[in-house]
Amino acid sequence: MQKTPARRRKASNWKVYVCLLICFPYGLFLMWRTTRWHLAVKGLVTACFVALTLAVLLPLTSPPDRLPGGVHMVNAERDVEVFGPELPEALDTNYIGYGTVSISNGPVFTEEEIAEPTYVYANDNGQFYHRLDCEYVQWYSKKYTLPVAYYSGYGPCEKCQPPVYTPGMGG
Ligand SMILES: [Zn+2]
Repeated sequence: MQKTPARRRKASNWKVYVCLLICFPYGLFLMWRTTRWHLAVKGLVTACFVALTLAVLLPLTSPPDRLPGGVHMVNAERDVEVFGPELPEALDTNYIGYGTVSISNGPVFTEEEIAEPTYVYANDNGQFYHRLDCEYVQWYSKKYTLPVAYYSGYGPCEKCQPPVYTPGMGG
C-alpha cells in the first residue's frame, strides 16, 4: 500500500513530460498542479517554455518589414546596418531571441546579389563589346565583366548600346 502513491506520482510525472512535449501549456498546468517538484524547478521549466514560445512567436507577430517584391532590397539595407559602424545598436534592435539565426544568414546571401557584375560580350577580332542579345554576339564571343571589357580596349557597341564603363564606378 505504501508504494502506490509513489508509483502514482511517478506516472503523473511521466504524463507531465509527455504533455510538455506535445502541448506544453497543458503540460505546464499539470506540472504546477500535480508534481511536487521544487518551486525553482517549476519556475525554470516554465521560464524556458515561455522564452521558447517568445522566440518562436515574436518573429511571426512583428510587423512585416518587407515590401512586396522588395525582399532583396530590404535584406540589403539590413546588410548595411549589420556590417556598418552602428554594429552594437543594430544588433540590439534586431535581437529577437533565437529567431535571429535566419537574419544572420541573410547577409552572406545578399552580398553576392549586390556584387553581381554587369557582363558584356566581345569578339576577339572586334573593337566593341555588346549586350548578350546583340546581333554581333556569336557563339565564339567571350563574356567579360564591364571593367574587364573596358580595360581590354573594347568600346561600347553603337548598335546595342551596352552600359558604358566609367573608371571608378565599380561593378
Ligand atoms: Zn552590339
